[in-house]
Amino acid sequence: MTAITVPDSSTAPTGQPWTCPFCPLSCDGYRISAGEGPALVDSDCPRAAAALSHFGASASSAMPRHDGRPADHASAIAAAAAILAGSRQPIFGGLATDVAGMRALYRLADASGAILDHANGGALMHSTRALQDRGVFYTTLAEIRNRADLVVCLGTNAVDHYPEFFRRTAPAAGAPARQVVFVGAAADRATPGLDGCTTQEIPFVGDVFDTAALLAARVAGRGTAMSDPALDALAARMQAARYTVIVWESGSLPEHGALVAETIQRIVNTLNRTTRAAAFCLGGGDGGYTANQVTTWLSGLPLRTGVHARGLVHEPQRYAADRLVADRAVDALLWVSSFGPDLVPPTSDLPLVLLGHPDLQAALDDRPDTIFIPVSTPGIGSAGHLFRADGGIVVPLTPIYADTLPTVAQVADDIGRALAERRRTEQGGAR
Ligand code: SF4
Repeated sequence: MTAITVPDSSTAPTGQPWTCPFCPLSCDGYRISAGEGPALVDSDCPRAAAALSHFGASASSAMPRHDGRPADHASAIAAAAAILAGSRQPIFGGLATDVAGMRALYRLADASGAILDHANGGALMHSTRALQDRGVFYTTLAEIRNRADLVVCLGTNAVDHYPEFFRRTAPAAGAPARQVVFVGAAADRATPGLDGCTTQEIPFVGDVFDTAALLAARVAGRGTAMSDPALDALAARMQAARYTVIVWESGSLPEHGALVAETIQRIVNTLNRTTRAAAFCLGGGDGGYTANQVTTWLSGLPLRTGVHARGLVHEPQRYAADRLVADRAVDALLWVSSFGPDLVPPTSDLPLVLLGHPDLQAALDDRPDTIFIPVSTPGIGSAGHLFRADGGIVVPLTPIYADTLPTVAQVADDIGRALAERRRTEQGGAR
């Protein structure tokens, strides 16, 4: 394969700002430099810097591998199809890919009867359960920027995992003055975007469940056995604010975090009777929102759904990939991690098809029954689309170089064709 060198330019090839694919804020205002490897020019976001460090100045020349030995694309595809053909119940996990990749994986799941779960499926289910049980009222980055006069960060300082959140939502010109209250989290006042806001920290009363319940009761004007003057004052401020936004982070919640998500929605509903309020969930990284949205629009059901021959089955608890693999309730694993090498498949001796960043090969050790197909990263080596954190917004991704590696969509479609061909041949032989 021929390596393609990054153009010697201070920005992405178009000279336009680049859209970062490495977290669901999808920052699209920063330029990228080529140099020895890609780096952000206008931001020191540590999450983006860590992710970009896994890419060089030229496209990878990695080859597929079958049981640890180099293989060509066609034989790796045929071997992957053989694993799926021999599986009674496969699971597709990881699912860190873009819209086109997830669409192709859904088609392949339909062809092979697979269960679909994302690497961050547990955190995704917190917000999905709240949506299913009570409905949700979310806002957008632009709405926060233009209207929010009170932002309450519940159990998160936002920037540990979403470093540009406050810069992306900093009050726009003419927007009302803003207070940011951190409940159960420490504020980093040096954070860009927070400088124009007043800030306050309030500790949890008990844990996050107790605190959210107490705040919901106070906002609704109900008395409780527990009491806390700081939370009482915050409830009064939320009632008096013109537009409160409650920010929470699905990945930081413990098990049963859906209870907190539902309580936040109850607070929002109560406030909307007399003023205006909404929630904003930080989550859905590694393509999680994209995988969930695409699965939902294609099937009518979210992730943790089996696309079985007998019909669709959604099991938000039972279809957790790591548990199914640990219990050997599935007999083959197809794992997708196209954004970087850190999202490794769960340890097991199940037959494994791994579509991933070239460096993921190191995670395989000498695992037998393994097909590794290195794939392109959307926004680095290939174009693509991702859903942003605020739900219905799909952002286009522009590559910074032309890749030599296939996209997840191309590989999934190739496996699907090989699977169909295999079945046609088997049926022909059986006649
Ligand atoms: S906050 Fe997220 S999208 Fe923005 S630059 Fe950092 S990793 Fe990229």
